[in-house]
Amino acid sequence: MKAVKRKILLNPGPATTTDTVKKALVVEDICPREKDFLEVMKWVRDELVKIVHGDLNKYTSVLFCGSGTINIDVIISSILPAGKKMLIINNGVYSARAVEASKYYDLPVIELKLPYDRPIDVDQVKEAFKADSDIGVVYATHHETGTGILNPIREIGAVAHENQAVFAVDTTSTYGLIPMDIEKDQIDFLMASAQKGLSSMTGLSFIVCNRKHLEASKMYPKHSYYCNLYRQYEYFERTGEMQFTPPVQIIYATKQAIIEYWEEGEAEKFQRHRRVWEALYDGIKKIGLEPAINKEWQSGLVVSVKYPVHPNWDFKAIHDYCYQRDVTLYASSENTFRLCSLGAIDLEDVAYFLNIFKEALIAQNILLSFDDATTKA
Ligand SMILES: *Cc1c(COP(=O)(O)O)cnc(C)c1O
Repeated sequence: MKAVKRKILLNPGPATTTDTVKKALVVEDICPREKDFLEVMKWVRDELVKIVHGDLNKYTSVLFCGSGTINIDVIISSILPAGKKMLIINNGVYSARAVEASKYYDLPVIELKLPYDRPIDVDQVKEAFKADSDIGVVYATHHETGTGILNPIREIGAVAHENQAVFAVDTTSTYGLIPMDIEKDQIDFLMASAQKGLSSMTGLSFIVCNRKHLEASKMYPKHSYYCNLYRQYEYFERTGEMQFTPPVQIIYATKQAIIEYWEEGEAEKFQRHRRVWEALYDGIKKIGLEPAINKEWQSGLVVSVKYPVHPNWDFKAIHDYCYQRDVTLYASSENTFRLCSLGAIDLEDVAYFLNIFKEALIAQNILLSFDDATTKA
């Protein structure tokens, strides 16, 4: 296979992949109902549980063909018992997406809207239970990727369980990045996708489920035909197949990505993302730009950077300069941009980026004023 040019993606996923993961996409054509493919899918399903230290007797994973948002649709439409309400804790754009999705199914949802610039306050979750005794599902986002804020899921999960509710968590941007233990972290339904923490490709999403709660959901009202968790699970268990066409090549790439995950090691990989983040954070401050969120509330995966107040600042021009030199930056809302440490990248990539970024500022005639600001501080 012809070598593919390497790009440094600092956007919030999909992330930079290794050449070996890219190569794993190129496989013999195969019908996804063949035994050879079912074995690959079974292996991937089990490994996805092991990555979050789940006991395979208690937890299983259910695969879907789609980007990460399909999981939100699946969870919203599949796990709410009749007569119960879903509490969606909203402290960022991804949990807001779950609230928005729920409107399409006309479900009894309570939105707990909290500030976007800090982690979820667990006391507010306790208050929500005091105010309503019909809450059957608590929904939260582990890492609000838009800001880089990490939420205290273990504590929230404990509150859910004390109140006999199940806990569903969107871990799309922490799975395979920040070590998790599904049981200790009190998660019953854990949502993620192949293209972020695993550094695989877009098209495969999955939910690691507590089997007991998954089995119970058989009796719950379902609001979608395709995004139907129990249906998909039951079909997998009975046939080993996905009900409808799986993303065949992505599953091969994800198998390779999982092999590489274990080769690197959970702790080592976490450390690598952490040092990339530190280097991005420190590097950007040295240049004279300001991170938007308190460091201690950060996931260690995203640096949200405020646009500098400078007449020459033009994010698009900076972006284009970097993009032409193989580094991708990502604009956010509210005059910030994001730098993420998700993919198969390391310190030398950060050093390369910071150089290019400085060059881009010089090209805009911006760096000099920052030099002044840094020497004055
Ligand atoms: C990326 C992401 C998603 C999924 O987004 P898609 O664009 O559908 O892949 C969901 N939740 C979080 C927290 C994310 O970071």
